[in-house]
Amino acid sequence: MKSTIMILVFALAATAGVFTFNLGPVCGDFAALEIQSKGAVVKTIEAEDGVFPEEVEVIEAYYVIPEGCIGCGICVNQCPVDAIVMTEDNIASIDPELCINCGMCASACPTGTIELLEQTNCSLYGIDSEGNEELLEEGFEVE
Ligand code: SF4
Ligand code: SF4
Repeated sequence: MKSTIMILVFALAATAGVFTFNLGPVCGDFAALEIQSKGAVVKTIEAEDGVFPEEVEVIEAYYVIPEGCIGCGICVNQCPVDAIVMTEDNIASIDPELCINCGMCASACPTGTIELLEQTNCSLYGIDSEGNEELLEEGFEVE
């Protein structure tokens, strides 16, 4: 029975896409850049030889909005591919590389704090060496 359910889950899972973000030249002395969505860091971008890339890709996957997570762990037990772990702060975190976009965690979450990533909800932040963040671009236009 369980294997039948698993086959159905994989059959229904949406194909994960990839968003491409054009960051352009980054002005400012930052230790890293972050693409965030509703308070969740969905991509951390490091500089290479002091230069940040002008274009980055982000996997379209489910993610946890930290503010709404009560640390119940229900989503962890729902995931068929073990893509969810609890962080030290007791907030669920989804590995987009493993997520197959089945949506089971989002359906089970009692606070509705798991969503499929949307490109237009993403913003770019610069992070300085002390961890302070500066909003560089709010929302990305979809080409
Ligand atoms: S089910 Fe929702 S509230 Fe519970 S740990 Fe997962 S994301 Fe957090
Ligand atoms: S993280 Fe959620 S959407 Fe992704 S595979 Fe696991 S249960 Fe499915």
